[in-house]
Amino acid sequence: MIEAAYQNEGMNARFITCEVGPETLSHAINGAIAMGWKGFSCSLPNKQEVIQYLDDLDTSAQVIGAVNCVVIKEGKLTGYNTDGKGFIEALCDITSVKGKHITLLGAGGAARAIAVEAALAGAKHITLVNRNQERGEALVKLIEENTKAKASFVKWTKHVSIESETEILVNATSIGLNDAQAIPDIDMDSLHKEMIIADVIPNPPETKLLREAAKKGCTTLNGLNMLVNQGAQNIYNWFGKKVDREPMKASLKEIFEAK
Ligand code: NDP
Repeated sequence: MIEAAYQNEGMNARFITCEVGPETLSHAINGAIAMGWKGFSCSLPNKQEVIQYLDDLDTSAQVIGAVNCVVIKEGKLTGYNTDGKGFIEALCDITSVKGKHITLLGAGGAARAIAVEAALAGAKHITLVNRNQERGEALVKLIEENTKAKASFVKWTKHVSIESETEILVNATSIGLNDAQAIPDIDMDSLHKEMIIADVIPNPPETKLLREAAKKGCTTLNGLNMLVNQGAQNIYNWFGKKVDREPMKASLKEIFEAK
């Protein structure tokens, strides 16, 4: 996806994927500096681990406590988190988050990034629905202590009902990844057509949750643009260049269809 953007823009750059575990992360980072890399993307399990090696953190990366993009400039390393930003950018094509009541299913890394970015972008209230109470309540505390948004926790019980004040519902769990028939266990009758229903799952993009929500007349948003946007934002962080996202989207679709 990143190389599709580089090729389309005629950029003299490569995106190399390397498997690096936490135990060799510091060596890999020193290598990246030594080889004059612009920076690197960072995925699980290194998103938190990498922070100890950085000189500076962007505001939201600091609040989220995780980094998915590192910029190397004059030997200095700055960490960013573009996962939540990518989601908010995709959502902004449909609606503004300002003043909105957002309900998130999940309280893991994706939910954390989206909740923090949405709160920093002016969301009024964030409800977190999660099985693991400790994780859900920790995220509520994080939002209330670091942003102006209000936050509350709902324990995920069987067929959990979505609060009627919800304006945007986001599935930020891994339910639906590589499984077109999997759907979060929520009371679908609690959804109403004024709600926007979003999913972070990029593959398959049209998850069962989105298909069922669309049948109810809800506006839906899939996870494909979130993934493309975070990639495009990473390229901007490294090169200061805004790239065309269509070739990135096309290459992702090709990769997913081949799978
Ligand atoms: P984590 O492992 O950090 O969190 C997973 C979350 O899903 C947890 O809150 C977990 O609940 C919940 N969960 C998992 N299974 C169930 C279930 N059966 N019922 C209820 N809750 C469940 O993962 P991430 O947050 O990092 O990733 C989540 C998804 O987001 C992944 O599928 C990933 O592909 C996607 N993603 C998409 C991106 C994009 O750009 N489109 C970017 C980043 C992630 P509990 O805490 O109770 O265990």
